[in-house]
Amino acid sequence: MVRKLSDNSWEIPIGRTPGMRVPGRLFVSESLLEGIDPGTIDQIANVATLPGIQKYSMAMPDAHLGYGFAIGGVAAFDREEGILSPGGVGFDINCGVRLIRTNLQKEEVVPHIEALTEALFHNVPSGVGSKSRIRASDRELDDAFLHGARWAVEAGYGVEADTEHCEADGFLDGADPSHVSTKARTRGKPQFGTLGSGNHFLEVQYVDEIYDRDVASAFGLVEGQVTVMIHCGSRGAGHQICTDHLRELSQAVKKYGIQIPDKQLACAPAQSREAQNYFKAMLCAANYAWANRQVITHWTRETFEKIFGRDADDLGMDLLYDVAHNVAKLEEHRVDGKKKEVYVHRKGATRAFPPEHPEVPAAYRAVGQPVLIPGSMGTPSFILCGTKEAMDISFGSACHGAGRIMSRAHAKTEFRGQTIKENLEAQGITVRATHPSVIAEEAPGVYKSSSEVVNVVHELGIARKVARVIPLGVAKG
Ligand code: 5GP
Ligand code: MN
Ligand code: MN
Repeated sequence: MVRKLSDNSWEIPIGRTPGMRVPGRLFVSESLLEGIDPGTIDQIANVATLPGIQKYSMAMPDAHLGYGFAIGGVAAFDREEGILSPGGVGFDINCGVRLIRTNLQKEEVVPHIEALTEALFHNVPSGVGSKSRIRASDRELDDAFLHGARWAVEAGYGVEADTEHCEADGFLDGADPSHVSTKARTRGKPQFGTLGSGNHFLEVQYVDEIYDRDVASAFGLVEGQVTVMIHCGSRGAGHQICTDHLRELSQAVKKYGIQIPDKQLACAPAQSREAQNYFKAMLCAANYAWANRQVITHWTRETFEKIFGRDADDLGMDLLYDVAHNVAKLEEHRVDGKKKEVYVHRKGATRAFPPEHPEVPAAYRAVGQPVLIPGSMGTPSFILCGTKEAMDISFGSACHGAGRIMSRAHAKTEFRGQTIKENLEAQGITVRATHPSVIAEEAPGVYKSSSEVVNVVHELGIARKVARVIPLGVAKG
């Protein structure tokens, strides 16, 4: 069913699913392979049947079942001969992670962690339908769709340097709000600066191990330092944009006569009107997500200022970096020795660009792009850097997390929120959530081992470990 290529690399041969144009590649260790659902392997093979796919249909070690494409999936399609597919991006368009540095040490924060977590939980609205403290006008919504984090900074939520430390400078060109439905607008307008549901979080952490001193120093990281990780996406706006365009693209599949083995792989030729309409709307959602994380950053800084009685500058609260992990982008890559433009779909996968790449901000140009990999509220998260190998092996991509192994429904029968909370508290981790059931659904045991997953990408060389961070206080959606 899968053929071993090396310790962390497995091939899903052409022929496993009729119509495969390229093989599949699954990047897992032998022990992680045991936990991979056969359905996930089917999904990797299904994606390999799509027109214009380049090299292989890939999945990262955090892979698990998703809508059409596996989560943890990476697939690049020729700009002209290929397709665009909403399933390759996901419903939470530009769900992503950012990391804020501080110059506080663990010992300075621990005595305040309960108050700090409570204040963060209070100041950054969370939960499924959570509403913002911002009342955005239609004009502001359009600005966010068009200019992403840049809009938020101009509106007073942050500083200029923040956008320089985001993938794509915190906004992608080409967004067109005329392809966003009224319903998506209505859902998006009241949600700026909100976290969303349980898998999204705002976490105070500390650096407990450095693997690469030179790169850590370029990233401004030292042992014992406190960091803040923010994970969220484009909220209702992104979800609605995906839903709306999936409907259109399901029609387009028939119109263009594309054979797909699963109707969740709805897609259209990349340059068709339907695919481009989706792309332009998808970019609006991507920009919305960057604006959202930017607003949350601002409120996070304000919260620290209140608790520690010093201003954010003085606390050294710079944005280290912000990465998208659910997005499709037009990028230049080398395929069969030739440079070409491809639509890279990363669905639960993080860009991992190498040193000297022009898209890596000047501050990190010599060492490579920061790659942010969350673990869980009770296990380590990791900071890695992008590599040249990633460009050769995975279209400049790595994993995006530990990856879920237990469904939410199953988790609620397996774990009790209150018990999990007490266990975490015994480990020195404070948790606030909208409901105890969220804590059960998000128990560390629902995820794979973040260390094991990160070791796979490190050993493969598609991203290299720089530092490990441990949670101190977690505000969950
Ligand atoms: P996703 O984007 O697939 O929902 O989640 C990305 C990853 O975030 C998950 O695979 C998991 O490893 C990680 N994660 C989920 N909840 C938490 C949390 O509360 N804290 C940290 N540090 N990571 C989490
Ligand atoms: Mn998300
Ligand atoms: Mn996510």
